[in-house]
Amino acid sequence: MTELPVAGPSPAISEIDPASLAAWLQARGEPAYRADQVLRGAHRPDVASFEDLTDLPVPLREALAEAFRFSAINDTHVVGADRGLTAKAVHELADGQRIESVLMRYPARGAASARTTICISSQAGCAVACPFCATGQAGFGRQLTAGEIVDQVLHWHRPPWRALGDAGGHYNVVFMGMGEPLNNADRVFAAVRLLNDPRRLGIGARHITVSTSGVVPGMDRMVDELPQVNLAISLHASTDELRDELVPINRKWPIRDVIGAGRRFAERTGRRVSLEYVMIDGLNDGDAQAAGLADLARGWRCHVNLIPLNPTPGSRWSGTPPAGIERFVRILRAGGVTVTVRDTRGREIEAACGQLHAQLSGRSLREAREARALPAAPVATA
Ligand code: SAH
Ligand code: SF4
Repeated sequence: MTELPVAGPSPAISEIDPASLAAWLQARGEPAYRADQVLRGAHRPDVASFEDLTDLPVPLREALAEAFRFSAINDTHVVGADRGLTAKAVHELADGQRIESVLMRYPARGAASARTTICISSQAGCAVACPFCATGQAGFGRQLTAGEIVDQVLHWHRPPWRALGDAGGHYNVVFMGMGEPLNNADRVFAAVRLLNDPRRLGIGARHITVSTSGVVPGMDRMVDELPQVNLAISLHASTDELRDELVPINRKWPIRDVIGAGRRFAERTGRRVSLEYVMIDGLNDGDAQAAGLADLARGWRCHVNLIPLNPTPGSRWSGTPPAGIERFVRILRAGGVTVTVRDTRGREIEAACGQLHAQLSGRSLREAREARALPAAPVATA
């Protein structure tokens, strides 16, 4: 895959390696403890710029602002849905590429405590070209850097959202935005390590999920390099004939290989793999597909997650109606498979990633804002 360099004037604090930061500080005659202080400070939920690092001397704050970017994201526009419980950001990067991330809050209900999910992008666009996916239809832009990946999480962690603080530790970061994370494995793995770093966000690997269309070598690398991260496989069909169309990377790694890699992951990490299945009316939701899926999912540590299709503009397909989903669920359960149905958060804000981006039709965020072509943000609740 070709890779374009990011025209960034300076490194972002989210990806700078602590040793380089320490060397930079040392060259300015600063004491050794400053590197930790800067890193921890820049990742605090109440800090929105270097200026807010009030425990540092003013000249040092100014020098940091000159030498480093506070974020690898240049500009962000947020739109909201579900009465402020779902918010979606379009982020503009230094070279004008745009990506999306989504914040979903689930308030406490009965015995279930509050949860927050942050959905992030791994690439600008995607080369896999699944025909039901807005990102896939828009084509591939470029790989994201580790900092650009981490800064999507930081965006929601910082004011006014402070999203990681509000769920009492019950939060997840999922690579289910734009892009195929395992086609950008080096940067995605580096981003996971940055997210894990206790001096930064300190997000445990078990709170992170990588979703893949079935990049087998990448799945095998996860076993060795990120065995505590959750793996989700976007299956969407139980025959190669149909999956070749719905998830074109299937022509390279067919179902058998993908399930084989999923089983290796489950066996070697002891973790349950999630099989994602987008329900498309009349296409992949028949009884035979359900029975085939039950055969693929039976007998190993996995569960099936059904997602009603969120149709992209002009799509020839629609989501399976509730009765069809129930029928599919019954067949899977009768086949001995654990299954959940995912809710369709944020439909009104085009929350299936790539859709809002498409709506901008080439305009920059500033231009779109001036033309009032973007809906407004919900009120952030801390
Ligand atoms: N490329 C990776 C991760 C990003 S896509 C992957 O495919 O797994 C994240 C999930 O959103 C995938 O399961 C994908 O199939 C699903 N998805 C994409 N477009 C969708 C749509 N229009 N409606 C519902 N789910 C969609
Ligand atoms: Fe890429 Fe995932 Fe969309 Fe397929 S569903 S085009 S793999 S982002």
